[in-house]
Amino acid sequence: MNNIKKSIKLFEEAKLHMPGGVNSPVRAFKNIDGNPIFFKKAKGAYVYDADDNKYIDYIGSWGPMIMGHSNPQIVKAISKQLELGTSYGAPTSLESKTAQLIKKCMPSIEKIRMVNSGTEATMSAIRLARGFTNKNKIIKFDGCYHGHVDSLLVKAGSGVSTFGLPDSPGVPSQLAKQTISCEFNNEKDFLKAYKKVKNDLAAIIIEPIAGNMGFIPAKKTFLKLLRKKTKESNSILIFDEVMTGFRVSLGGAQEIYGIKPDITALGKVIGGGLPVGAFGGKEEIMNCLAPNGPVYQAGTLSGNPLAMAAGHELIKMLIKNNPYDLLENKASILLSEMKNIFDKKGVPFSTNQIGGMFGFFFSKKLPRNFNEVAATNDMHFKNFLNSCINHGIYFAPSKFEAGFISTKHTNKEINTTIKVVKKILSKGL
Ligand SMILES: *Cc1c(COP(=O)(O)O)cnc(C)c1O
Repeated sequence: MNNIKKSIKLFEEAKLHMPGGVNSPVRAFKNIDGNPIFFKKAKGAYVYDADDNKYIDYIGSWGPMIMGHSNPQIVKAISKQLELGTSYGAPTSLESKTAQLIKKCMPSIEKIRMVNSGTEATMSAIRLARGFTNKNKIIKFDGCYHGHVDSLLVKAGSGVSTFGLPDSPGVPSQLAKQTISCEFNNEKDFLKAYKKVKNDLAAIIIEPIAGNMGFIPAKKTFLKLLRKKTKESNSILIFDEVMTGFRVSLGGAQEIYGIKPDITALGKVIGGGLPVGAFGGKEEIMNCLAPNGPVYQAGTLSGNPLAMAAGHELIKMLIKNNPYDLLENKASILLSEMKNIFDKKGVPFSTNQIGGMFGFFFSKKLPRNFNEVAATNDMHFKNFLNSCINHGIYFAPSKFEAGFISTKHTNKEINTTIKVVKKILSKGL
């Protein structure tokens, strides 16, 4: 059992200075009634806490650490840029270089704009869609999280559902009314909403592989229907690939499904662990952005050279290594072994993975939408998660979050994880 005395003390102190002691809600461990672990360093597949405990990390900063923490090549790229300056508020060649690599991997992106977070990317994508189409309504899907954008904080999954806030106070109801949320993977529910708003429909936004209600891929037929209907109504199809971009495959979920969105939102991996977001798509649409067109969007630190250096290096490594099959195999070994252990103990358990992203659920059948995830066993999840953390295995502390594996997770880390799961289960959940 890990001693986390210092983390407990640090959390008490943090609560004096920050609401809830954190700068992003899921970090507070409320969902598992635990004390957040405060980290001080990370290397490869491991994170190290303030009490010097070592954990095998299956969060990887929610995606970016796909080639391991403190990857020497990324550290080198950042250091090199650090010597040259950290921000100029002016253009650099690094922005074009990074844009070129992203476009090469995601052919649906003809032009791209860099921003500083995933939230900024989806917020701006929606403004652009509205500006381009001259329409107002947005369709989204229950449990899909698109950042904390006003218009998108409607049935928004992970953080929001973890805390039982269906909508957030502070979002004007007039604005929320412009957003319709339908059940994920439910054609009928979508068609009903579509029929109602199609004449004023600016955009449909979706996580094609949802990572904010656990891990739930959309059905291909469902995504195809969205593509077809947005074409019919001259609306914009936005794929939010902030989490899946460069995580499930080089070309993101759109490559796996073979479906081209009009706009893609990116973040997480493309910053190599530094704050970044981006949105890109058809040239005709992107050219509506200022200074080319009338839709305003700007950012003092957008395209920041440090973030571009880190992101560029990471994307280059991903293109060279194409580690996605390997990551999926590793995740699949880990999850099937876990499932064997749970099956033997008669604990309902289901799993899924694509590329370096995975999910496990305390339910017999794999959930297909938010309500089915919500219905999975909370007590099992909470007990399992707390025990894992006590034993040095760091999974996401909410059943509405996905898991991530890196190229630095070797057989050794996988086997250690399986051993710990066996040990936990030998005592029962
Ligand atoms: C993380 C995430 C966002 C928000 O990105 P931030 O950088 O946290 O603002 C948006 N959409 C999806 C799918 C995400 O996973």
